[in-house]
Amino acid sequence: MNNNLPTARNISELPNIYCYGCGVCVNVCPTKCIKMVDDHEGFPYPQVDEAHCISCKKCVLDCPGFNEYKNKRQLSDPLFFGGYVQDDRVRFTSSSGGFFTPIAEKIIAAGGVVYGAIYDFDQMTVKHSRAETEIELAPMRKSKYVQSQTADILHQVRKDLLANIPVLFTGTPCQVEGLYLFLERDYPNLLTCDIICHGVPSPGLFQRHFRYLEQKHQSKINKIDFRTKEKGWGGPQNLFLDLGFDASKKLTHSLFDPYYALFLANLSLRPCCFHCKYASTNRRSDITLGDFWGVSKKHPELFDHKGTSLVLINTKKGMEVLESISPSVEIAPIQDVDPFPPNLAKPSHRPRYRDRFFNKISLKDWKKHRLKAHLIAVFSIVKYKVSGLIKNLQKN
Ligand SMILES: Cc1cc2nc3c(=O)[nH]c(=O)nc-3n(C[C@H](O)[C@H](O)[C@H](O)COP(=O)(O)OP(=O)(O)OC[C@H]3O[C@@H](n4cnc5c(N)ncnc54)[C@H](O)[C@@H]3O)c2cc1C
Repeated sequence: MNNNLPTARNISELPNIYCYGCGVCVNVCPTKCIKMVDDHEGFPYPQVDEAHCISCKKCVLDCPGFNEYKNKRQLSDPLFFGGYVQDDRVRFTSSSGGFFTPIAEKIIAAGGVVYGAIYDFDQMTVKHSRAETEIELAPMRKSKYVQSQTADILHQVRKDLLANIPVLFTGTPCQVEGLYLFLERDYPNLLTCDIICHGVPSPGLFQRHFRYLEQKHQSKINKIDFRTKEKGWGGPQNLFLDLGFDASKKLTHSLFDPYYALFLANLSLRPCCFHCKYASTNRRSDITLGDFWGVSKKHPELFDHKGTSLVLINTKKGMEVLESISPSVEIAPIQDVDPFPPNLAKPSHRPRYRDRFFNKISLKDWKKHRLKAHLIAVFSIVKYKVSGLIKNLQKN
């Protein structure tokens, strides 16, 4: 977190490496003099029209890069559970064990609304959307490996909360903290659910790459699934990319897709992700969801290749919700979370040449540069794996 809070005049004084891109600053500015503008890496950052800034500091005080929301009553330590939903159709269309869906359905059944990330294939982007029905939950399922835009929905969330509508807000941990800072208080009708997050890749890169594939195949993309379970879950078969075109589909191993390989190599992650303050169990959400990697060895009774979630309960409210969905899930408490999932223990590793990589390739000329980018990504993954192997051999 940046420590310039007392002296900063406005959000322009937040160095980019601390900016999560949540867009809270845009939403709280009373003179509307802040807008999000993409940098050369394709990540949005706030830009201030200094002529209209009145130095009220609201953008600074409500920014998760400068500040944190301190009024949430968390359990002293989160409670860990592992499990999956019993409905196989939901599980197949979810990234891990599918816990997002019963939690969201509970809110919808209570007359509430759910906020989550969906694809917008016309704009070729991922953005947060509002669901009032179970049907509208379907596009929110599955992990979209790109930063989702939340800037446009924060006022709507507050409107729903003030109207006493039950609200579930889901997203990355930084988006959840951004929401609380924006709201400036907790609401009894607000439930929040974040994900264990490896980091978010560049929306500009996402757009260029999938637009390029549309051109190459001369067909519109209508489905992107980074977590297809066509080959199962829980081993090397995890990371396949399932793309839907107008009249065909394409299943590619992650390493054969430059965008996916860059994500796995950590080369396309937002700079703040490498020192993310939420890469720990210190969360602002009520519930945290992640993949239960390693479940086959530690809890084989919860493993069947269809996907298992790791669930962290961070608040009393989160526990009540988990109890209320228990008839529709298989679940067991986990006492021995060892080793911790990497992104609950520390932020993702920053490759030494990440910035050089972005300086070398031009997003505008992705068609020309994608092969070079792909080679760098694969080389980086192989190098990382080999150095891990050597370290392990040296230990033993
Ligand atoms: C960028 C990213 C990185 C992740 N990294 C890890 C990791 O390192 N380790 C790990 O254990 N789990 C990670 N996850 C979480 C994991 O992949 C699953 O999302 C989680 O297990 C929930 O799965 P589910 O089966 O319960 O539900 P699903 O139905 O698959 O979950 C969908 C939920 O994820 C939210 N979501 C999807 N994409 C985004 C997005 N781009 N931004 C914000 N919210 C989004 C939706 O709003 C919805 O709430 C990551 C997810 C994302 C999006």
